Amino acid sequence: MLDPSNALRSAFLKHIQDPVAVFDTFPRLNVLESNQQFKDLLNRLLSNRSAENEPFLGLFSELEYQKFELEIAASVKHNEKASFKTNLNSNQPNEYWEVEMTPIFAEPAPMVICSFKKTDDRIQDLISELLERETKFRNFFDQAPLGMCVLKGTDLITEYANENMLNLWGKTRSEIINKPQQIVHAELAAREDILEKVRAIFDTGQQLTLNELQFSTSAGDAYLTAIYQPLKDEAGTVTNIFVIVNDITEQVNFRKELLKAKDILKLAMDASGMGSWNVDLNSKRCFLSERAQEIYTLDHNNLSISEAKSLVMERDMETVSQSIRKALHHQTSFNIEYEIKIEGTRHTKWLRSTGKAYYDPDGKPIYIAGAVLDITAVKQNELRKNDFISMVSHELRTPLTSLSAYIQLLQYKLKDANDAYAVDTLNKVGIQLKRMSLMIDGFLNVSLLEAGKIYLNMVQFNLMDLINVIAEENRIILPSHFIQVVGECDVMINADKEKIGNVLNNLIGNAAKYSKKESLIAIKCETNDDEVIVSIEDEGIGIKASDLDKLFDRFYRVDSADTKTISGFGVGLYICAELINQHGGKIWVESELKKGSTFYFSLPL
Ligand code: ADP
Repeated sequence: MLDPSNALRSAFLKHIQDPVAVFDTFPRLNVLESNQQFKDLLNRLLSNRSAENEPFLGLFSELEYQKFELEIAASVKHNEKASFKTNLNSNQPNEYWEVEMTPIFAEPAPMVICSFKKTDDRIQDLISELLERETKFRNFFDQAPLGMCVLKGTDLITEYANENMLNLWGKTRSEIINKPQQIVHAELAAREDILEKVRAIFDTGQQLTLNELQFSTSAGDAYLTAIYQPLKDEAGTVTNIFVIVNDITEQVNFRKELLKAKDILKLAMDASGMGSWNVDLNSKRCFLSERAQEIYTLDHNNLSISEAKSLVMERDMETVSQSIRKALHHQTSFNIEYEIKIEGTRHTKWLRSTGKAYYDPDGKPIYIAGAVLDITAVKQNELRKNDFISMVSHELRTPLTSLSAYIQLLQYKLKDANDAYAVDTLNKVGIQLKRMSLMIDGFLNVSLLEAGKIYLNMVQFNLMDLINVIAEENRIILPSHFIQVVGECDVMINADKEKIGNVLNNLIGNAAKYSKKESLIAIKCETNDDEVIVSIEDEGIGIKASDLDKLFDRFYRVDSADTKTISGFGVGLYICAELINQHGGKIWVESELKKGSTFYFSLPL
């Protein structure tokens, strides 16, 4: 125990290098005596906190002071030395002090000698802060989506490389760390030009970027972009190079594929004589490729929309505008045929154009682009063919009409002759004649349709009556099948009776043609609020889903083992669709292969 006498205490305190103070603990904590070092410390810290009456309070922040009080109380209570670390009331966060407390026996209450020692903890703190930063940096390095490494000296020794870099190089860490690049990478060793450029960074201190570096790997060619960033010391000398590498193989291959596709497209367009065009919806101008300009027979390749419109024949103007409007609103492509006038001549040309609109990210259309083909020759052939079919059909119809009149006459005459064989044969002749007339009517209809010469003769009639008459006629022509009219719908419609009769004949004829003998054909008629729907259902061979949308195209026939032996020209459904469309109705089909088909058409009421 120390002698608490004043003189000795003062002498002791003088000889101690660290700040020391003797505290009274009663009636409250107070500095009884202290050395000069303690006073200096107090003076320095006092500027941070004013405590005029009890200057030693300035040593601590409020929180730290509470700790100090508790530690002193504990040391006195247990009559034991105690110590605690504090950064005092310093405004330097890394300044740490160790306060050692030694209780001294005294009356009326113990005293405590407190010595203050600056510790090295702040260095520890700095180290842990540095370590923490390095860990964060390494994490960032390792997790970065790019390959990164650090090269040291002109030998380009790999000091560090992240996971991505190792993956790019296809090496393990031990294979590359502390080894020169050119030794680890055979590819690089062969590229002295690149190595030279990288080494030069140590002299120039300039960043180097190498774009699209090509390397061959086991998986094929790889492409990289590499950025070499000099790292300098305090004197500005380059000591290391920080390398960032991005694998751009996918982008480069994609670009190459795109260029290849563009080349192929150009070859295909050149080979087919197709031109391309582009309408900028902002400037409202059309731009034509060289071939498109040739097709339009223009001496310029850039024209306004109204100029382009003025080239289209009036008759086709509505089709063209409507298709483009539809494509714009429904984001679909269009495929149209139209006739144009050749500027400064009386000639015309037939063109086929396909195209589609392209939109900005907000969904606003910015341009329409497409291809155009001169189909004048094909169109003229088609017109000639149609004219021929129309003429031949017309010519064949006249003798056929006379033939059926003669047959009716004969049938009338034979009524009383009691000659069953003759009656039967004559009926068969009648049936074949009817078939032939239907076929010829079909051809005639096609050519008339093509020429836009089918006119509807609209009358009011009872649809059910027509269905019953047609069903009856077909029972005679097609005794091989059971033709049934299902249900009743007493509905008057306004339509061309003969043409609707043609549609029904066609659909019933097909139902029989594409199904087994003695199977059922059911004709049904239903109405809803604003339309009447007629359906013809069969138990036949059915139609593949992939054929359904082409069925109503001109000359389309399903090509399968089942249909090979069945004759036809592929015009029946085309005519039906055209006739129903002209009536403002719709035609469609539901079918399952080997189960049967149901053809529907609707007519507005
Ligand atoms: P065609 O019968 O003269 O070939 P269509 O235009 O009438 O021409 O019919 C087109 C194609 O649709 C036919 O070739 C046939 O393959 C298919 N088809 C039409 N009706 C049916 C049906 N009821 N069942 C199965 N296939 C049918």
